[in-house]
Amino acid sequence: MKRLQDKVAIVTGSDRGIGKGIAIAFAKEGCNVVVNSHKSNKEGGEVVNEIKKLVSDAIFIVADVSKERDVRNLVDKAVKKFGKLDILVNNAGILVSGTVTTLTEKDWDRQLDVNLKGVFLCTKYVVQQMIKQGKGGRIINISSIAGLVGFPGISAYCASKGGVTELTREVALDCAKYGITVNAIDPGVIVTDMTKTMLEDAATRKMMMENTPVGRFGQPEDIGNAAVFLALDASSFITGHNLVVDGGWTAR
Ligand code: NAP
Repeated sequence: MKRLQDKVAIVTGSDRGIGKGIAIAFAKEGCNVVVNSHKSNKEGGEVVNEIKKLVSDAIFIVADVSKERDVRNLVDKAVKKFGKLDILVNNAGILVSGTVTTLTEKDWDRQLDVNLKGVFLCTKYVVQQMIKQGKGGRIINISSIAGLVGFPGISAYCASKGGVTELTREVALDCAKYGITVNAIDPGVIVTDMTKTMLEDAATRKMMMENTPVGRFGQPEDIGNAAVFLALDASSFITGHNLVVDGGWTAR
């Protein structure tokens, strides 16, 4: 028996990057997955096909997590397809560089809308469904070590992730009585489109490697493995926790 056999998960922002890594890791454990991105593209369908080859089921639903109507539609369609929801991974996120003196109001608002309000909206509608089902559930928020320590030049991103980290603790308390656990994963540097430009810059890459004691950058599978752990029935006593998966960056 696989460890997430017949569970159903929504993984936001899962047509590529960390979200895709989580979706595939879940599917390998027998979980059916709702793949999501905010715009229609062929990558979403490719992730669905990959999951089906692993003998789990999947559907691709386009939804902008910062828009309440989209999120309601995402949850409604997911329940219509699979009949229930067991796991939500709030992974969708964006990063736009800028200090408080250079960032535009538009870029501030967009990062807070996707990275923090998106977590609120998805959690709201999925938790309502989980309470209705009466069998508990798992909420896993992909925050960042940028929510724990400061990183120069990405002010709104740090603020949004600090918000996700704290929201995780608050929602954990609200949901404990329903058997719904709420935890966050705080990745360090993971090789995805989000970090591509940084890793292509030799000086930034060197600085990031020097700050990652294990001597390698993370891969989406590293976060997928951590998410599987938090999604297990056996993890029911873990809630309100921030699981740092950063190759040692914040241990120094
Ligand atoms: P990525 O490769 O840029 O992928 C971002 C994903 O989010 C894409 O699937 C994208 O969909 C989706 N997305 C963006 N805006 C959305 C919206 N409004 N509604 C729905 N989906 C949306 O980024 P990543 O590196 O995998 O990051 C995933 C998460 O991990 C983010 O929350 C990020 O902050 C966090 N994180 C990443 C790192 C890292 O080193 N990579 C470190 C710490 C934390 P489209 O394809 O449609 O654009």
